[in-house]
Amino acid sequence: MSHEQNADLFTRAKSSIPGGVNSPVRAYGSVGGTPRFLVSAQGARVTDAEGTEYVDLVCSWGPAILGHAQPDVVRAVQEAAARGLSFGASTPAETELAELIRERVSVGGVSPIEKVRLVSTGTEATMTAIRLARGFTGRELLVKFAGHYHGHSDGLLAAAGSGLATLALPGSAGVTAATAGQTLVVPYNDLDALRAVFAEHGENIAGVIVEAASANMGVVPPKPGFNAALAEIAHAHGALVILDEVLTGFRVGPAGFWGLQAAAGEHYVPDLFTFGKVIGGGMPLAALGGRAEVMDHLAPLGPVYQAGTLSGNPVAVAAGLETLRRATPEVYAHLHRTADTLAATVSAALADAGVVHTVQRAGNLFSFVFAAEVPENYADVQAQDVYRYGPFFHAMLDAGINLPPSVFEAWFVSAAHDEAAVAEIIAALPAAARAAAEA
Ligand code: PMP
Repeated sequence: MSHEQNADLFTRAKSSIPGGVNSPVRAYGSVGGTPRFLVSAQGARVTDAEGTEYVDLVCSWGPAILGHAQPDVVRAVQEAAARGLSFGASTPAETELAELIRERVSVGGVSPIEKVRLVSTGTEATMTAIRLARGFTGRELLVKFAGHYHGHSDGLLAAAGSGLATLALPGSAGVTAATAGQTLVVPYNDLDALRAVFAEHGENIAGVIVEAASANMGVVPPKPGFNAALAEIAHAHGALVILDEVLTGFRVGPAGFWGLQAAAGEHYVPDLFTFGKVIGGGMPLAALGGRAEVMDHLAPLGPVYQAGTLSGNPVAVAAGLETLRRATPEVYAHLHRTADTLAATVSAALADAGVVHTVQRAGNLFSFVFAAEVPENYADVQAQDVYRYGPFFHAMLDAGINLPPSVFEAWFVSAAHDEAAVAEIIAALPAAARAAAEA
């Protein structure tokens, strides 16, 4: 299929933007071909510059939980914009959003989040949470898990998943050895390895940062009990737990993945949470939150500095508030059913075509791994038949389905993925599965 206009736009973009993109995964590096330049999105669908419509399973990488351009969210944004785009001062709505986050992330009326600070991106949220963990404990080292992505701040790019997995980069140039040396990388789902790191460095570890469920190396859920044991080990050594729910928060359920686990009887208390994506409803908004004792170390109360010209931006807060209010239990039930249907039908199509794979789930997030064994960590997912994904992706795209352009990403559904959208996806599967088989 020719995509001349998209190709022309890409060529033009490449002459003024590095790689033609403002975030690497958009360049289709691992699947090849011409990235689609999008001009509009509505409900479950996106439209490219050529006027071609696609059923979208990227959903802006998570934020579009209600579907694209949900009318109430758009109206809230328009009304907020008409009142002023940015004040650089406090607004009543910021407090409402902080209260709503605290209310939602609770079990039995008790929330591990007493205070919330709003920022603009997930990267800022995790960066600030780490600085805060260091400032609070007076320690320097940070533990992260291989394959976990927490944004692009210097200390977090060691063995990060997502775009770095796609590009097969071990980390990033431009990060000093001194900074990289303060991050200890541990294999995911491996408590013995975590214990060993704490046995050796425990007194110097400020915190452990972990995706509540990994979704940036494809979906790899924590083993039952892993998150709770991790918290126990960290706390026994006086280190903080930073639960990164930028991707999972308010997406997999009303109280994020932490809430799903608590409801299933795995209760643990992270010291800090990070949020993004859904809480901004598609606008640049993210947050960190946790118990007051820790959060009050932030300036102006405490010595840990953090600030932002656009932090708590009124238009972004309006989008976030409206999105969270409309992300009802019914919405989450719909997302879960839709994920069930798609995970099962994709798997059946792959099996019919003889493609060896496993289905990965974390709440309503899902992805597929081209390997026989269920992966538990980054090394496992990297060992799959990655080459099968490109042909699968392009067969789906040619049939009008927009998947994440990398096998190391989760698939996202929304409240707007109705029967018609799901039927279109299902109809495209057999040919795509055959393409994966023939790869
Ligand atoms: N943490 C996690 C778990 C993420 O998935 C992401 C983004 N995909 C980030 C942090 C960084 O967020 P942002 O892209 O808004 O900086």
